[in-house]
Amino acid sequence: MIAAYTPMIQQYLQVKADYQDAFLFFRLGDFYEMFFDDAIKASQELEITLTSRDGGAEERIPMCGVPYHAAANYIEQLISKGYKVAICEQMEDAKQTKGMVRREVVQLITPGTVMDGKGLTDKENNYIASITAFDDHTFGFSYTDISTGESRVTLLSNHFDDVLNELAVLSAKEVVVASSFDGELQKKMRERDILTISFEDNSSLEMNFSHLLQDINQEKLKQTVARLFNYLYRSQKRSLDHLQPVTTYQIHQFMKIDYFSKRNLELSETIRSKGKKGSLLWLLDDTMTAMGGRMLKAWIDRPLIDQAAIEHRHNLVEVLLQSYFERQELREKLKEVYDLERLAGRVAFGNVNARDLVQLNRSLMQVPFLKQILQGIQNVEMEKIVELLDPCEEVTDLLEQAIVENPPLSLKEGNIIRDGYNAQLDQYRDASRNGKTWIAQLEREEREKTGIKSLKVGYNRVFGYYIEVTRANLHLLEEGQYERKQTLTNAERFITPELKEKEALILQAEEKCGELEYELFTEIREIVKEYIPRLQALAKVVSELDVLQSFAEVSEARHYVKPQFSLDRRVAVKDGRHPVVEKVLNSQEYVPNDCLMDQDREVLLITGPNMSGKSTYMRQIALTAILAQIGCYVPASEAVLPIFDQVFTRIGAADDLISGQSTFMVEMLEAKNAIANATQNSLILFDEIGRGTSTYDGMALAQAIIEYIHNRIGAKTLFSTHYHELTVLDEELSKLKNVHVSAIEHQGKVVFLHKIKEGPADKSYGIHVAQLAELPVELINRANEILAELEQPSAQPSPVIKKEEQLAPVIKDENQSEQPAQLSFFDEPKEPKKQEHSQKEKRVLEK
Ligand code: ADP
Repeated sequence: MIAAYTPMIQQYLQVKADYQDAFLFFRLGDFYEMFFDDAIKASQELEITLTSRDGGAEERIPMCGVPYHAAANYIEQLISKGYKVAICEQMEDAKQTKGMVRREVVQLITPGTVMDGKGLTDKENNYIASITAFDDHTFGFSYTDISTGESRVTLLSNHFDDVLNELAVLSAKEVVVASSFDGELQKKMRERDILTISFEDNSSLEMNFSHLLQDINQEKLKQTVARLFNYLYRSQKRSLDHLQPVTTYQIHQFMKIDYFSKRNLELSETIRSKGKKGSLLWLLDDTMTAMGGRMLKAWIDRPLIDQAAIEHRHNLVEVLLQSYFERQELREKLKEVYDLERLAGRVAFGNVNARDLVQLNRSLMQVPFLKQILQGIQNVEMEKIVELLDPCEEVTDLLEQAIVENPPLSLKEGNIIRDGYNAQLDQYRDASRNGKTWIAQLEREEREKTGIKSLKVGYNRVFGYYIEVTRANLHLLEEGQYERKQTLTNAERFITPELKEKEALILQAEEKCGELEYELFTEIREIVKEYIPRLQALAKVVSELDVLQSFAEVSEARHYVKPQFSLDRRVAVKDGRHPVVEKVLNSQEYVPNDCLMDQDREVLLITGPNMSGKSTYMRQIALTAILAQIGCYVPASEAVLPIFDQVFTRIGAADDLISGQSTFMVEMLEAKNAIANATQNSLILFDEIGRGTSTYDGMALAQAIIEYIHNRIGAKTLFSTHYHELTVLDEELSKLKNVHVSAIEHQGKVVFLHKIKEGPADKSYGIHVAQLAELPVELINRANEILAELEQPSAQPSPVIKKEEQLAPVIKDENQSEQPAQLSFFDEPKEPKKQEHSQKEKRVLEK
């Protein structure tokens, strides 16, 4: 049917055929037009008017368009919704072409390949990933941020969850796979967040990117990266010289925190608002640069497990913490450092402007100051950082000499290059300046000659230079000397042959200036391009320094301590706090809690009323471990921690319903994930597991899960439950201990003390709270009756104690003891505890 259309629409359809999955922005003069379905969809998405045009066929063609100068904004809107936009430009000057102008797609903009504008958030990376599925069921996984040029690659096992997890950790916006990639797996990826899936079938490197792959030996990894690079090259169609050599990584080099846990712990965004505010990242971010902000997020996403590397960070934080004045000076200077990584990216990409280069220069000028400040600290480890800070003097020398202080945004208007940088340019400028002096001179002379004080010499684009005389003064002009050019209401404009001649000289000089400046600018950009690897290396060091000073700043403000690592998997945290809750509450109100877990206390079973602080306590332990392993100090007065290999959480959240699964199913899936993957070196947090089903069911599952973890895995586990009955499990499980969060009654109100204490909670607590809430007396009495009934051994769904059935559950009532035993392990172990043990052992012996 193509033949019926006009040649222009035929051309459109030909181009569109190659970009089926993108909006085609088809340049027609000053507009980008869209046709057919693109037009209908775009008019809805962008809220612009849908029109139609005659395209040669019977029916009119739907059409909508945006002015080219305002296109960026519309493109960003579409990209942020996960769409792609192909930019199709006119490749020839319409005036000089007979027939159809040649048009070509010059760039395919996609969610994962945004280079600038609002689509990029300063403190966030914008990652595009690629996955290659191999016959042996392994997955190659690579990713790039084309705005910074960073790329990494790894090989993942046959668990697709690992792939999903990587995508989530990186918040990848787009993923590139082969068109044959498993449809089920594609569906799984789509169910998670907004993710654009793109296809690239060629996995052998097309372009000359081999120098970027020099460190990679494995064929699988090469193919994975090649797929990604081929896609980038095909869509961007321009220099990607800023891409840094690809490095390999392995997920088990880092503490593994799965997707759910990351969300549950609100590491970089909160569950409710999906925003940064209220997250751990928000708390820790006192970085001064955008690069530092991005690195901080990357560190939080991947806590370390290598003790030496972690301690290296701790030591640097310590040094910065002890050097208050140097740190403040450092912060002042860092504030002046712009986004070196993204500036470097734009240099390579060719969309850098003169103001960017001035920013680059200003940033580099800070480096000698940074060095000087850090040298003042006099520390061996800091010395090494000082050495890595490369001021790139060649670049600053060049930019200092070449670019004016306040250049315009546009590269075509001139006024970019400094006087004295280029002799030819100086000559043109002289010519133009002389011409202008001559014109000023002319104005004076003409005024004198004619006696017209209001006579002026002016310039406009259409008529060029002119002499303007008001109507009232026209009679003063000498006949025959002036040629009339333009008539205004109150004045006439004239030229003279002399003026015409000068004008030509000035305009020519200015045009030449403009051209030459552009040429020189391009030259300078090419020189700067040579330094991109050095700039990128510098950016890394600066970012690291920025994150470390941010750690020091926060640790100082919030009184954190340097954690120590234990070799025997011991957790001993004194006065621990939940870092975010503490900050939000105001430190005065936060009740610090200790946590002791060692080989006799692998599982802590936490009971206590709702809202008493159970889940806050659990989270605080996980966040403390994460803070320690990203290299930060921790919210406690003393902290000894093991290095955890993985953290698993099952913590209830309001929006659990994903992909139609019931809350209970999600709960079980997360439990499975932990049970299948946790090791002795992991940390597991289970909050009220089993709550989502009937009492018997839930309790049975909860108990079985606890037993399994206790007996088979041995991971450090915090398990909160409202099944009070489970508290007798400490009879059976020697490494399980009960703790509870207490509350008291004060002037007729329940007051949560938020204090973790040894032993199980008082089980009739719920009724007590109801009483305080002034529910009818009759109702309270009835509840007490029912409770008593339930407590009859026959009716009670009490746990099946495998070894010690004959024993009645011993329920400790804290109210009976005068002074509730408070968890304080920094003192010597308490006598009663020992006794308890020996009693238990005795019972077993008797058996
Ligand atoms: P639970 O899990 O027992 O229902 P949460 O852990 O959700 O209770 O805590 C309920 C509220 O109590 C939290 O929102 C927090 O504001 C407050 N809270 C918890 N722990 C503490 C603490 N240690 N100090 C002060 N307030 C706390």
